[in-house]
Amino acid sequence: MTPNLINSQLIGTPLQAWNRSRRLAAVPTTGIEQLLPAGSRAVIVAPHPDDEVLGCGGLMQMLGQQQIPMLLISVTAGTASNMGSHYWTPQRLSIARPLESAQALRRLGLDQSQYKWLHAGYPDTQVNLFEDELSQFLLGYLQPNDVVFTTWRADGHSDHEATARACLAACEQAHVPLREIPIWAWHWADPEDHRIPWDRARKLPLDTWTQARKRHAIQAFASQIHPDPLADLPPVLPACALDRLQQPFELLFV
Ligand SMILES: [Zn+2]
Repeated sequence: MTPNLINSQLIGTPLQAWNRSRRLAAVPTTGIEQLLPAGSRAVIVAPHPDDEVLGCGGLMQMLGQQQIPMLLISVTAGTASNMGSHYWTPQRLSIARPLESAQALRRLGLDQSQYKWLHAGYPDTQVNLFEDELSQFLLGYLQPNDVVFTTWRADGHSDHEATARACLAACEQAHVPLREIPIWAWHWADPEDHRIPWDRARKLPLDTWTQARKRHAIQAFASQIHPDPLADLPPVLPACALDRLQQPFELLFV
């Protein structure tokens, strides 16, 4: 998710406020069939290990259940998430965060035969410096039957936005559709916010079991959800952030 924007003192827009949003309530629902035409492959491009599960852990379960092929691309290893921590050093995170993602994918019910996974290895917090390179990297893997899912281009985090722009450029060149997913917007946006592209918004409803598996999967991100008592640091993802990302639907901009 993010390192720099998190501040435990700033809890952001609470879930209760989103629950009162008239604009969010009016967003139409969608389904796998609308998001991916028959014969598609889903390409999920995650700036950091956890964005794929936080943003579309429900969608990924449905893809797996329907045996729709998936390519997951982790843009960075998320090594800059725990600034100031003596335990979660960048070196430790470079190993731990991809492992947390692997465990989360298992908890979603996905086994390794259901997806391919690429680790692009770009530096955390610096994706914007490699935007064109990332775009070319993505183009090297895109196929005509792909539908790409990534974070929203105006999500409020540099890596999320740079990744989205790189995906957008690659998708335009490859003539494949891009679906964007807000992660940080849930934190900073107002529930009726005019900056949210409501006309492009769709809700993918998650049933009880899908929500439960997603919640269980998110608990795999130990480096992100627990406080760091050694350095007196709060969790990177506090409970209020998790609340917003564990709703009974996933929001996509199509
Ligand atoms: Zn992220």
